[in-house]
Amino acid sequence: MNCRFCATPLSQVFLDLGAAPPSNSFLAPADLSGPEVHYPLKLYTCPDCRLVQVDEYKRSTEIFSSGYVYFSSYSSTWLAHAKAYVAATLPRLGLGPASLVMEIASNDGYLLQYVQGAGVPALGIEPSGSTAKAARLKGIETIEDFFGVRLATQLAGQGRQADLIIGNNVLAHVPDLNDFVAGLGLALKPGGLITMEFPHLYRLVESAQFDTVYHEHFSYLSLATVRRVFAAHGLCVFDVEELPTHGGSLRIHARHQARHQADPLAMETERLRAVLDLETRAGMLTDGFYQGFQARAERIKAELLGFLAEQKLAGRTVAAYGAAAKGNTLLNFCGVRPDLVAFVCDASPHKQGLFLPGSRIPVLPPAAIAERKPDFVLILPWNIKDEIMGQLAHIRDWGGRFVVPIPSPEVV
Ligand SMILES: [Zn+2]
Repeated sequence: MNCRFCATPLSQVFLDLGAAPPSNSFLAPADLSGPEVHYPLKLYTCPDCRLVQVDEYKRSTEIFSSGYVYFSSYSSTWLAHAKAYVAATLPRLGLGPASLVMEIASNDGYLLQYVQGAGVPALGIEPSGSTAKAARLKGIETIEDFFGVRLATQLAGQGRQADLIIGNNVLAHVPDLNDFVAGLGLALKPGGLITMEFPHLYRLVESAQFDTVYHEHFSYLSLATVRRVFAAHGLCVFDVEELPTHGGSLRIHARHQARHQADPLAMETERLRAVLDLETRAGMLTDGFYQGFQARAERIKAELLGFLAEQKLAGRTVAAYGAAAKGNTLLNFCGVRPDLVAFVCDASPHKQGLFLPGSRIPVLPPAAIAERKPDFVLILPWNIKDEIMGQLAHIRDWGGRFVVPIPSPEVV
């Protein structure tokens, strides 16, 4: 296997989570009598560009099929995040009815609905049919396709280059990183701005977020590596914001390099330098940073299993909340099955009635918590634990308590 950016052969394994089915391959009741394909789930570090990556075992066309069940609009925290971004960004860039805002992986239109609502033309690019359809029902023009050089060239040929290109949690999910970033340069209007959000590899390692590793999440990104990838395709990352989303994300700001050929470094912001310094000081450009992560993941597994076994022996019940991809990595790596976690609740009707891949834990509507009154609720999407604890505050009425698994299992 070679690095998906610089083609250096990869041999340094950073994390080995065994074998697991794809995180979003939920099972229907009829699937339960059949087998499931498990793929190795291993992270490699590139010794040259330091891109951390998983091998591509499952084709993206299979992952983002019409049965794709992740709809962004079911998280109120995420909707508020999108709304605040749009409200701050459109006026700052002076965008109006003659502008074009393009979002790649626009999902169900969770963000572009606010762009359109502000009277600015919006175009979504979304490969998954189920979510693209939901976006169209909101009246948002959505091209159902994968983004890259091919589509970007086509759009540019139609005069549809964007003043603003947004990509939230897509950069890490792209199998052909070079083709995707090259496409960004082509789809961007001269003088336009690109903003992309992705979980920061620094936070992943610092907070032992090994559960954010799954097959559909191909790359794990530092600012230094992303700048290098963008620069290779004529784009300059000149600014960055640190965000609390997904356990700690970066939002990069990028432009065409050619417009500032004289001295691209001169336009770098203070906060960009600060994050680059943070990464260098932490040793992210050296092997040391990546060692010891496996042991931390295994310790969390032992602690979580110890906790679940203790409750089982004491006759107490444990349910989980949030059928997110990261939950599947955690449950499958730990070998948790319905005997230890009886069911998982999720607000999305697209997941209810299905079973988690691998662990085969049934997904029920949130009302099941009040009906069954579990002693503990394990919060799988710990990145939105405050939102979930607020929604489920009623479990305190019967003495129920919450368990947060990462950075180490804790009852709260
Ligand atoms: Zn590389």
